[in-house]
Amino acid sequence: MADVQNEPWTVLRLLDWTKGYFQRAAVESPRLCAEILLAHSLGCKRMELYTRHDYSPKEEQLADFRQNVKKAADGQPVAYLVGQKEFYSLTFRVSPAVLIPRPETELLVDQAVAHLRNLSGPTTCWDICTGSGCVAAAVAKHAPNAKVLATDISPRAVEIAGENIESLGLAGRVTCAVADLLHLPEGWAGGEFFDAITANPPYVADDDEVGKGVEYEPAGALRAGPEGLNVIKPLIAAAPDRLKPGGIFCLEFGQSQADAVRDLIVEIGAFEEPTILKDQQAIERAAVTRKR
Ligand code: GLN
Repeated sequence: MADVQNEPWTVLRLLDWTKGYFQRAAVESPRLCAEILLAHSLGCKRMELYTRHDYSPKEEQLADFRQNVKKAADGQPVAYLVGQKEFYSLTFRVSPAVLIPRPETELLVDQAVAHLRNLSGPTTCWDICTGSGCVAAAVAKHAPNAKVLATDISPRAVEIAGENIESLGLAGRVTCAVADLLHLPEGWAGGEFFDAITANPPYVADDDEVGKGVEYEPAGALRAGPEGLNVIKPLIAAAPDRLKPGGIFCLEFGQSQADAVRDLIVEIGAFEEPTILKDQQAIERAAVTRKR
């Protein structure tokens, strides 16, 4: 970050310089990443950068920013550097123990919320492989009639999910627990059959390459055997036994898994023909199906 113009580093100059630096380093969304990192180092909201564009950060703030800019240019995910990520307009704490919430996963929330809000009276939803708890929290937030069970096989993930549920004020309606697949944990008092099940399980095939920065994310949340179906298969098999008749199962899957997932759902025989949903990039990304 050479100060060629010998001018003070204002917020505006820092953002412009960092955007160019990130572009050259092929960081995705360079301007946005620069803003997120600078707001973090200044301890302000991203939007507040615009009212402070003439501000010259203190030396410690600059040092902190520089360090993070370097790490981000090296490929470290910005969400881990600042310890948080937005999902469904809510802020989630994240650490390398959990997958970083992705916009395509919002599809699961849309489906579950629409279904639960259509039912009268109290409802239940089980978010399995919850990670940071982002799907569970967003469902609870937007379906006020729902009690939500959020489980993950990773105790470190469940700890973070619990913190997120607590800080979003949803602890009264969301229960977080360690559980393997669809084994009902102790301490859940919402019954054994659910109105909805949501799942963003690991689904990347062992030999598939992952995108830039994804290698910093937990392998247990990403990798699932030679075809990436080692978690999806048992989930599809177990889901009907945990759903009420008419209950829905919303499952995220990977690029090119749509046909396999559709076949697995149809073969089980307990579900209606699934609908395959595309994400914002028009990639087939999730299946939603109803228990007969
Ligand atoms: N969508 C993620 C990726 O490809 C994978 C998420 C997952 O396995 N659940 O990076």
